[in-house]
Amino acid sequence: MSKVELIKLNKVFESKIGEDVIAVNNFNMNIEHGEIVALLGSSGCGKTTTLRMIAGFETCTDGEIKLDGEKINHLKPSQRNVAMAFEGYALYPPLTVSENISFGLIREKISKSDINKKVDEVINLLEIKDIVDRYPPTISAGQQQRVSLARALVRNSKILLLDEPMSQLEPQLRAVLRARVKDYMQHMKKTVVFVTHDQTEAIALADKIAVMELGDLKQLASPYDISAKPENVFVASFIGEPPMNILKAEYIKKENNVIFKVFNENTSDTFNIKFSDNSIDLSKIKNIINNQIITLGIRPHKIDFTSNSSNIEGNTKIFTSHWLGDQMHVGININNITVIGVAERDFNLKSDSIKINFPSESLNAFDKDTEEVIFNGL
Ligand code: ATP
Repeated sequence: MSKVELIKLNKVFESKIGEDVIAVNNFNMNIEHGEIVALLGSSGCGKTTTLRMIAGFETCTDGEIKLDGEKINHLKPSQRNVAMAFEGYALYPPLTVSENISFGLIREKISKSDINKKVDEVINLLEIKDIVDRYPPTISAGQQQRVSLARALVRNSKILLLDEPMSQLEPQLRAVLRARVKDYMQHMKKTVVFVTHDQTEAIALADKIAVMELGDLKQLASPYDISAKPENVFVASFIGEPPMNILKAEYIKKENNVIFKVFNENTSDTFNIKFSDNSIDLSKIKNIINNQIITLGIRPHKIDFTSNSSNIEGNTKIFTSHWLGDQMHVGININNITVIGVAERDFNLKSDSIKINFPSESLNAFDKDTEEVIFNGL
């Protein structure tokens, strides 16, 4: 078993010249045995610092790190039984690629034939068979990264920590290796924490994604829930390409309908999104009062261009579109308010006025002040 617990973890970098940097702020997370967790966020949000604290390269200012229930804050990296592939965690130049990969296993005292078997497996997995007899300085950055990943994968460690493990690889190879590496880690029941700023990588590899902003954990959930059930505006707008449409709206209860009157804060422009009471789950809006201002979110992919009916009250036109190879990003003007949609290739751009529908199950709402979720789908 190898369960990791991060309890109220804090890291403050003290500065002699300017303000101290709060790199990680009250971070709580449980990682179950065999779980793969991605730390995802933009540059400087504290991902690497969190990983380095788990590895033991960085001390914690406050809080606890537990491995299988035992506090490990005081242990050196070498005493924590973690395998790592970190940028700058260099390969040994005097050893060949294959010696680099098997080096950690020799210390694990397993038989020579088992070592060879394990090393062969990851060499094939990561497509580095042709360079096994070469030395690290003579191979490319992408090859070095795969060797470093191979060296970490073969180890029989309690935790596997990876920092941007595929950042140097070209997109096609990265896509193939992601799937294989995920299968391998699942098969070997590895407990993994990896850092990435690439949401595709996080979604493809992880069982759970921890989205971070300025040292705070904004949400920890499965890739599906992070996308479909964002808990706050930050996560809603950070995940997804193009990002979620975020709109200010007034909630209006009128007769047997629920209306969200979307408005532009700087102009008097408005349009309505209207639902009949019997088409939605009213219990999800029981805490919103009439005329309350809220923040609405709808993903561009969820805007429906094919429906015969429309729940939009407003003049709706396409003003721009870009074909991106497999989908079309569309700029929609509704009573002078801009919304982004994603349409199929055969979408008819020539029509002056078009019908679109905002499906109730894809509509998200957030408190306008706290930015915390009110509902994910109605
Ligand atoms: P990136 O994706 O760019 O690597 P990150 O999310 O991994 O970013 P961290 O490297 O964890 O972010 O840094 C978090 C914050 O802590 C940043 O503001 C960074 O400048 C600061 N920081 C990191 N290491 C140190 C250090 N040794 N001394 C002072 N500040 C530091």
